[in-house]
Amino acid sequence: MRAKLRLSPDFPGLEEENDEGPEMRVPFIDLGMCSGCEGCVAACPQVFRRNRETGYMEVKSLDKFPEECVDEAAKNCPEKCIFWEEIY
Ligand code: SF4
Repeated sequence: MRAKLRLSPDFPGLEEENDEGPEMRVPFIDLGMCSGCEGCVAACPQVFRRNRETGYMEVKSLDKFPEECVDEAAKNCPEKCIFWEEIY
């Protein structure tokens, strides 16, 4: 899982982890690891698709992502290249 950091208002220039929960969690595919097997599309077509122009897998633009579906795709991804990115 990836965590975004934010700048601390008390110590400008220093970064700290955000104590508050993420505003949004967004699935992320590490394309450098992805084999293009489309297992994620089979597991969670609401979220994952292949971009017909680039040929690469991508995450659809959604306001909210179904966690169970994404977790299932991530669990079954043979390359283990699906992660959650947390947006603060
Ligand atoms: S299941 Fe994993 S390796 Fe297969 S296309 Fe999706 S992200 Fe890539």
